[in-house]
Amino acid sequence: MNKICTICPHNCKIDRSINIGRCKAGDKVEIGGVSLHKFEEPCISGKYGSGTVFFSKCNLNCVFCQNYEISNLGNGRKIEIEELSNIFLKQQENNAENINLVSPTIYADKIVQAIKIARNKGLSLPIIYNTNRI
Ligand code: SF4
Repeated sequence: MNKICTICPHNCKIDRSINIGRCKAGDKVEIGGVSLHKFEEPCISGKYGSGTVFFSKCNLNCVFCQNYEISNLGNGRKIEIEELSNIFLKQQENNAENINLVSPTIYADKIVQAIKIARNKGLSLPIIYNTNRI
């Protein structure tokens, strides 16, 4: 498997298991929060809320980010891909209208794996990719 990170256009070309690039993310997924969020746009929150998963760190580092502590300061904890898939399934169990991936880009490869695992275990919710342009 190619470990050189080219996930986003910063194209750092570093091995995230031994180094960090612009986003400061390592090779494990890190999340800063999970919630059933009722205050997205009504078509996203729906009746029961959007199943948000906030990912720690980010490839943009906007100074006015509303999730600054998570995206810029990196607040959060490391999790395995299997646990992430279980979080998606738990959101479904809790009647989330969708899975809302907040700033997922820097972990996109691992998130895809987690979604595949969850789909095989019955995840049927739509997935929202909620982030900056890159
Ligand atoms: S995801 Fe992070 S390490 Fe990878 S290219 Fe983008 S900024 Fe660099």
